[in-house]
Amino acid sequence: MKDQLQQLRERALTQIAGLMDEKELADVRTRILGRKGDLTGILRGLKDLAPEERTQVGQLANTLKSQLEQEFDRAEAALRERAERAKLASEFIDVTLPGRRSLSGRSHILNRVTQELIQVFAGLGFQLAEGPEVELDYYNFEALNIPKDHPARDMQDTFYFSDNVVLRTHTSPVQIRTMEQQQPPVRVICPGKVYRRDADITHSPMFMQVEGLWVDRNISLADLKGILTAFVHEYFGPHLNLRFRPSFFPFTEPSAEVDIQCVICGGSGCRTCSFTGWLEILGSGMVDPALYGFVNYDPEIYSGFAFGLGVERVAMLKYGIPDIRLFYENDMRFLNQF
Ligand SMILES: [Zn+2]
Repeated sequence: MKDQLQQLRERALTQIAGLMDEKELADVRTRILGRKGDLTGILRGLKDLAPEERTQVGQLANTLKSQLEQEFDRAEAALRERAERAKLASEFIDVTLPGRRSLSGRSHILNRVTQELIQVFAGLGFQLAEGPEVELDYYNFEALNIPKDHPARDMQDTFYFSDNVVLRTHTSPVQIRTMEQQQPPVRVICPGKVYRRDADITHSPMFMQVEGLWVDRNISLADLKGILTAFVHEYFGPHLNLRFRPSFFPFTEPSAEVDIQCVICGGSGCRTCSFTGWLEILGSGMVDPALYGFVNYDPEIYSGFAFGLGVERVAMLKYGIPDIRLFYENDMRFLNQF
């Protein structure tokens, strides 16, 4: 039995030396010192020994037991300390490392320009009006003096859902909807997305417009020129000249396109203005009296003007952007510049 104890001692010490973690230690401890453990098993044989030998072996066994308990305790403390150190090492924070910046969002350049335009016109007394992007043919064309067979429909290659439902090709239907719902005075600014089958470096199938409408008693071409001049001076610069060129739109009469002096070269001529010194910026005109018939306004009493400009075009001119597609490619290097 002494030999058994000796073997157990050696085996136990070897096992304790090779312990990897606290859980393994608890298992080994139970296997050796537990109630059904190896040492207990040996002690159970004591009763078969002669009394003298029993005392001697019993003492050896007790000594071994307390020695092993000490060894287990020591090993446990060492394992705990090692685990603690490993934990600290894994949680180490190097405060000298550069931080990871979280990206902050911002408005898209086109939304920003739209807001700026709305602000300028709000300052001139215009109220915001909005309408659906999926529009009835009636509001997009017919009530704007563009009947089914009108050649002006060819100028706007349209996305049709059905004969009567289209993606709006301009924000003008909002003007009709607004006039339908209220009598003059009407002074609104209508921003929004519009759609045409058109795509090259200056045209996108989806783009954004801001249109304005002012109808009241005694509104004349002078008011149109005054408002648009105030707008150009406020938004592009106080010293820029404007010129009005006669044009045609189905829903205004007379109509004019408005050019501003080139914001890049100041009028001396450059590539942006094709060396003319002028940039086309918006379309405008006096509301065609025929439109008032659609919204029950009396053309003998009321008159008004309308204008529309492309938000992309304004942004391209203001920031010197050469290609309209850059607005929609979502390249962060481009978008983060603004
Ligand atoms: Zn120029």
